[in-house]
Amino acid sequence: MISGGDTRPEFVFELRSCRWAELAWPPGESEDVTGDETGKPAATNQRPIVVARQLGTKRRRWDTIVLECDPDGLRERARFGPDRLDSDLLHVIQHAPEAWTYYRDALPHPGYPWRYVREAIHEADDRGILETRRDGNRIQIRRKWVYPDWVERIVAIENKPDLDASAARVLGPQLEYDVAMALADEVWVATRKTGERIEPALFEDLPVEAGILALDPDTLSAEVAWYPRTLAVDEPGTRITERPDGGDRDASAARFEYVDPDEKAATRLAIAERAYERGWRSFVETMRPDCRHFELRAHVDSDSDIEPDPNSDSSKNERGLSQLLPTCRAKERCQTAAECSGSCPDFEPEPPLWRQRGWPIEGGPGRRCRVLLEERRRARRPDSPDESRE
Ligand code: SF4
Repeated sequence: MISGGDTRPEFVFELRSCRWAELAWPPGESEDVTGDETGKPAATNQRPIVVARQLGTKRRRWDTIVLECDPDGLRERARFGPDRLDSDLLHVIQHAPEAWTYYRDALPHPGYPWRYVREAIHEADDRGILETRRDGNRIQIRRKWVYPDWVERIVAIENKPDLDASAARVLGPQLEYDVAMALADEVWVATRKTGERIEPALFEDLPVEAGILALDPDTLSAEVAWYPRTLAVDEPGTRITERPDGGDRDASAARFEYVDPDEKAATRLAIAERAYERGWRSFVETMRPDCRHFELRAHVDSDSDIEPDPNSDSSKNERGLSQLLPTCRAKERCQTAAECSGSCPDFEPEPPLWRQRGWPIEGGPGRRCRVLLEERRRARRPDSPDESRE
């Protein structure tokens, strides 16, 4: 068990799975995830990745998402800032012309009223990612940079530390949906490594297209129990909208609809943009870091003998050596996101005295937790080409 934390809850397993992915993706390439003293991962594949959690579509949300990115494309993407570009902004940015042009002549009809396009143009201008000027009462636009093709592959991971038959019965239809839709290039199930010669998860009734990863959340060592198939993301997807119950008396057929490849591509990019913005350390946003019992505790990976400094801002701590996990002093363990809410019976607001320095703008320890995680998320993103030159 990692120091000070219990990795049994699914929530903690999920955070450990995200950290493993950040250090060691893709699976099967390297067992050593401790990295060197510069925090550089030991995995041989140097394709940059972005890891996020709890993202997807209206119908399907994945536990962990790994974006495999084009290195140059990811640096170019950084020019557009750390916040996501939503579909309205993408419509403007992707079609913005090289030379000054009236926006209605430059952009394809959006399929919705032009006033929303004007709002997106003003927002892009405010964010400094588009140039605008007025010619009489007409708004002209000009692009600052070409929006890059930065996402190469999207990989979805479901975290099921205790993958028994009943968990597989719930998970199976979800994975079948993923395989039929082929929105992600690969789907995986990450489950707790048992150390048995054949991982028990292999005996469960799951689609053969899904990979199975046996992960030890304490040591962050992982083995591929089953490799996934690459899904046809460029072909029409099949969305399963209704399933028969499957009982003896139910002979009805499943209902489904086809999904156009262009719609899939737009959804994939929207997911990627949200993943870029949120990362996986945003868990604190749905918890109560302003509770006096909340703390982020640095957990040293078992393979490392270097003690991290939990008060240090250094991104190297988490990149190579330790991970900050939410911990509840009242419960004396890692709490789940569901537990850590205003309705928690042990919740107590942090005392005003803690917030005196810089309060209320800078806040107290709760605010500091957010800042610390945000700094670590940013440390994982490459600088834009402009920043690198400075
Ligand atoms: S679980 Fe409850 S007591 Fe613990 S930090 Fe969260 S809100 Fe506070």
